[in-house]
Amino acid sequence: MAYDDGNVFARILRGEIPNRTVYEDAFALAFHDVHPQAPVHVLVIPKGPFVSLEDFSAQAPAELQAGFLRAVGETARRLGLVEGGYRILANHGRDGGQEVPHFHVHIFGGGPLGRMVAGSAA
Ligand code: AMP
Repeated sequence: MAYDDGNVFARILRGEIPNRTVYEDAFALAFHDVHPQAPVHVLVIPKGPFVSLEDFSAQAPAELQAGFLRAVGETARRLGLVEGGYRILANHGRDGGQEVPHFHVHIFGGGPLGRMVAGSAA
């Protein structure tokens, strides 16, 4: 799937749409989700044109992949989630239910998060 430069997260990176920033560095931007699904719900996106984990993991330079992962950890620390715990989630494609075609991970926290996958037993 080709990267669509008009997607909402690309527009956020270009400063065309406001966001509630939690953390930013050369590799990534972290901001609050507009429709939070947990007491804390933050998105972390890499600064590069990648649709999902599929092309990010295969094609992003190693420095960006490492920097992005460091930014995810730093964002969770800045949110005060380390002691209580948190969950990371990344959707890819149809079965994953990905809506925005710019790679992102969700950070959920701020309270017990329940089942890992909807409809699962545990
Ligand atoms: P996904 O289903 O993994 O693609 O998740 C996309 C997420 O982006 C959803 O949780 C949306 O609520 C969130 N979202 C969409 N537009 C914005 C926006 N402008 N600012 C912050 N979060 C957004």
